[in-house]
Amino acid sequence: MTTSAEFDVLVIGAGPTGLACAIEAQRAGLRVVLVDKGCLCNSLFHYPAHMTFFTTPELLEIGNMPFSSPNQKPTRSEALEYYRKVAEHYALDVRQYHRVEGVTGGDGDFQVKTVDRFERVVEMHAKKLVIATGYYDLPNYLSIEGEDLPKVQHYYNEPHPYFGMDVLVIGGKNSAAIAALDLWRHGAKVTLVHRAAEMHRHVKYWILPDINNRVKNGEVTAYFSSTVTKIDEDTVTLQTPEGEKTIENQFVFALTGYHPDFTFIENLGVRLDAENARCPICDPETLESNVAGIYLAGVIVAGERTNEIFIENGRFHGAQIAKDLAMKFASASPTK
Ligand SMILES: Cc1cc2nc3c(=O)[nH]c(=O)nc-3n(C[C@H](O)[C@H](O)[C@H](O)COP(=O)(O)OP(=O)(O)OC[C@H]3O[C@@H](n4cnc5c(N)ncnc54)[C@H](O)[C@@H]3O)c2cc1C
Repeated sequence: MTTSAEFDVLVIGAGPTGLACAIEAQRAGLRVVLVDKGCLCNSLFHYPAHMTFFTTPELLEIGNMPFSSPNQKPTRSEALEYYRKVAEHYALDVRQYHRVEGVTGGDGDFQVKTVDRFERVVEMHAKKLVIATGYYDLPNYLSIEGEDLPKVQHYYNEPHPYFGMDVLVIGGKNSAAIAALDLWRHGAKVTLVHRAAEMHRHVKYWILPDINNRVKNGEVTAYFSSTVTKIDEDTVTLQTPEGEKTIENQFVFALTGYHPDFTFIENLGVRLDAENARCPICDPETLESNVAGIYLAGVIVAGERTNEIFIENGRFHGAQIAKDLAMKFASASPTK
C-alpha cells in the first residue's frame, strides 16, 4: 500500500458534477484531487456511442468555459472532448482508474482507500470529501429467470451487431425508445415491452412521435401493459393482456433505469431518508451531509429520483459546496 499527499478536498467521481466541484473548490484556493474508478466522465463514455444529448451545449457548461458545437444539441464525443478540455484548462488533478472502496477518519482528516486496476491499494488523505458518484453503474434488475444470460444487457451501445437479429427492448422511457429506434433503423427486428399502457410521458417530445409511429406502422412490435417473465437462450416469454406469449429472441436490452450506490453512501455514515426516495440527508444550501466534512453532489442528491438532477442542474452544486468550503477553511485558518 502507498500513501499519497494530503489534500484539502477529495472529490469521488470525475463526472461533470465532480469536475464542477473540483473547479470551484480549486478557484477558492483549495488543494483538490479527483478520483474516479474509470476514465474521466466514465458514465458519459459508456453512453450509446452515437448518442446526441437532450440538452443544448450551454447547459452542459462548467467552470465558465464555453461549449461550442455546430449542432443544436451536442453529441457524446463532443461532450467528452469538451470535458477533457475543461480538465486540461484547469489542470485538474484527476486520478483515473482508482476505485474508492472505503473511507475512515473524520472531518479534517479522512483516509480514503482506493484500489487501482491491478488491485494495488493507495491511501489518500483529505480534510473534506465530495461524493459525486452518479447512478449509471448499477442497473435496476428485473429479477426474472434468465436475466443473467450473456445475451441480456443493461447498457445499449450501438446497433451493428444486431443486424437481422430478434432483439427485445424492455422499458418505456428515453433510453428504451432511442435504442429501439436505432436498432430498427439499422436492420434489427425489434420488439418493445413496457409494463405501462403507453410510452412514458418523460420521453422527449421529438422522440415520442417517432417511436409511436414505428409501433403504429408495425415496424417495431410493441407489447404495452406487459412484462417479461422468462428469458431463455432462443426465446423470451411475455405476460401480455392477451395472455402468455413466447417469442423468438437472440438479444435483450433491459433498459429499466439505474440507481445510485446506496450502500457506498451509507457506509460513509450518511443517512438515507426512507420517507423521501432514499435521498441522502444533507443541508440543501451547502450540500454537507449529516457527516461533517462529507458533501454530496449531482444526481445522488435526489436518491431514487434519478430523473430530477442532470448535468444541467447538478453542475451548480460545485459553487454551492465551494462557498461553504471556502467559509469553513477561512474560519479554520484566518490567515489563509
Ligand atoms: C443516455 C443518457 C443521456 C443523457 N442526456 C442528458 C442530457 O442531455 N442533459 C443532461 O443534463 N443530462 C443527461 N443525462 C443525465 C446525466 O448524464 C447524468 O445525470 C449525469 O452524468 C450525472 O452527473 P454526475 O457527475 O452526478 O454523475 P456521473 O456522470 O455518473 O459521474 C459519476 C462518476 O463517479 C465515478 N464513480 C462511481 N463510484 C465510484 C467509486 N466508488 N470510486 C471512484 N469513482 C466512482 C463513476 O465512474 C463516474 O465517472 C443523460 C443520461 C443518460 C444515461
